[in-house]
Amino acid sequence: MKNLKITVLSLLIVTLLTLTGCSSDPKSDTVNNEAGAKESNVVNLYTDRHYDTDQALYELFTKETGIKVNIVKAASDELIERLAREGQDTQADLLVTADAGRLNRAKEQGLLQSVSSETLTKNVPENLRDKDSEWFGLTMRARVLVYSKDRVNPTQLSTYENLIETQWKGKVLVRSSNAVYNQSLLASFIALEGEEKTKAWAKGIVANLAREPKGNDRDQAKAIVAGVGDVAIMNTYYIGKMLHSSDPEEVKVAEKVGVFFPNQATTGTHINVSGIGLTKNAKNNANAIKLMEFLSSDIAQKQFAEANFEYPVNPNVEPSELLKSWGDFKAQDINLSALGEYNEQAVKIFNEVGWK
Ligand code: FE
Repeated sequence: MKNLKITVLSLLIVTLLTLTGCSSDPKSDTVNNEAGAKESNVVNLYTDRHYDTDQALYELFTKETGIKVNIVKAASDELIERLAREGQDTQADLLVTADAGRLNRAKEQGLLQSVSSETLTKNVPENLRDKDSEWFGLTMRARVLVYSKDRVNPTQLSTYENLIETQWKGKVLVRSSNAVYNQSLLASFIALEGEEKTKAWAKGIVANLAREPKGNDRDQAKAIVAGVGDVAIMNTYYIGKMLHSSDPEEVKVAEKVGVFFPNQATTGTHINVSGIGLTKNAKNNANAIKLMEFLSSDIAQKQFAEANFEYPVNPNVEPSELLKSWGDFKAQDINLSALGEYNEQAVKIFNEVGWK
């Protein structure tokens, strides 16, 4: 009984201290975060990117603002798991990762928070950021058709839908449905065409596959050059990466395939982003938002996008020469939040049609 009294008493004291601690400081909103930690002159970033040019950009940011950028690099899904595990104790203020579907996963797990910034809404087009402003696209990629220059005339290609025609039987290459890139592609079709048509498409692709889905996007291009199939579904930047690879075999492969933007006369080519979000338990919110704004700015966008052979999201900034050489293209007209919203449905369809 005595113990219980003491416990209740100490709880009361702690509560009182917490309450007075919060209300006695009129500037608590600006200098303190929810956990009460004082903001310091740093920002901590969890990222799946590992480019030297990124480091140069962070150094420029530090030079301009005096804010030091600390980086934790890991694979994308690991970063999200780590954020979830660390909860309130996390050091991370920002999460940078690829795919709107994945960014949405972080959002749905309650790991991000909404950011209100005029700079970000000006620099990042509305369709390339979360509806609730919990993440913002920073670089854009397209999921295109890549074909054998030897065996396919690009005039034979037209749409994603065309790949289920009999002329492509045994010739289509694509990675497994576990990849979020494919889940987002299918989610975009659900958003544009509805579930029934999308399911028929997925079924048709499975019927036309050159082999059981395996490997990553680069492996599909390699399989084209090895003669396993003729046309693959792949993200644009892998072609850039392979063209600039230190492995001469990859360079050879990239030179032997062509890039085709499907659905130009219809719904547009599927696009996706790599993006950034302010973590739910960020301790350096103001610094973090400054870095988000900086990365969306004209000066940073070019370098940030080019590091991974991607398109800048900021419409003021021109893409690289390689991307320009592929020409302009019409993109799907959907808000990328839809890729998260329809993810579950997409996974269900993949399972139903047996897309491994
Ligand atoms: Fe990738």
